[in-house]
Amino acid sequence: MKNITVIGAGTMGNGIAHVFAMNGYQVALADVSREALDKGLATIEKNLARMVAKEKISQESQDATLQRIRTFTDTAQAVREAELVVEAATENVGLKLKIFQQMDQHAPDSAILATNTSSISITKIAAATRRPSQVIGMHFMNPVPVMKLVEVIRGYATSDETAARIMSLSENLGKIPVEVNDYPGFISNRILMPMINEAIYALFEGVAGVEEIDTVMKLGMAHPMGPLQLADFIGLDVCLSILHVLYSGFGNPKYAPCPLLVNMATAGKLGVKSGEGFYSYGHGSKELIVADTFK
Ligand code: NAD
Repeated sequence: MKNITVIGAGTMGNGIAHVFAMNGYQVALADVSREALDKGLATIEKNLARMVAKEKISQESQDATLQRIRTFTDTAQAVREAELVVEAATENVGLKLKIFQQMDQHAPDSAILATNTSSISITKIAAATRRPSQVIGMHFMNPVPVMKLVEVIRGYATSDETAARIMSLSENLGKIPVEVNDYPGFISNRILMPMINEAIYALFEGVAGVEEIDTVMKLGMAHPMGPLQLADFIGLDVCLSILHVLYSGFGNPKYAPCPLLVNMATAGKLGVKSGEGFYSYGHGSKELIVADTFK
């Protein structure tokens, strides 16, 4: 494979484009928003420049990487020559089904269509196309250029050949792929989200404070970040919506989101992106300060 199309130039899309281009692939990066494309490219450039400054890559490699990325606001045009499309658009079922129908229509018949979804069923997305055996989950972690894992999710109809090609391609990117089957939350979020939810329940019930909960998990379990800080980083709205997927997918009350999480997400306290969650994030400040509500 040489030609890759990435749909969506946001947080994940620009990271995915960065990693493919840095590894020699020609990348078509598409987004409905020209502003998102400009911002995505600026982020890639900034992250590459940081790698040059740390002497991880050369200046020539930065220039060549940027030259391998072309941007498009027209998705149909962007997928025309794709051998693989990685969709990283906004997490919304209706939107993804529409994008996959469109990609199915305009990408070459031989192309593999992958999605970076965190929680939507791969089998459902695949069923919206005429090539379900060539549809697969390629779940990169944030920040994409740094994180080694790719969770490769096989939908019910994904063929062995598609899975094998995506596993080997992920290795070519310097990543470590892990193959899992398509059930709610896959492996990553099925295990992570109940832990985060339980940490929020412990706070809600007054078992311990924000810093205490995070410190126990950091120092006691060797987690690099406590679950409440991680929830702020992921976004409390995102955590809530993944818990809804687990809850409705399994019908098991153990996945019911904690009422405190529901309240915080509803009140717009979404974590880092809104400036406040369990911690408050002052402009440009790297210091971790517990939000006033939890002091
Ligand atoms: P984001 O909001 O940062 O970016 C989404 C981008 O998609 C936006 O730039 C938007 O303009 C674009 N978009 C919307 N509709 C489009 C369309 N029809 N065609 C092309 N582009 C379109 O979102 P994100 O955090 O990068 O998440 C993208 C995907 O990656 C989601 O499915 C999410 O679940 C998944 N994911 C996110 C993370 C994370 O930590 N942020 C981690 C793993 C997976």
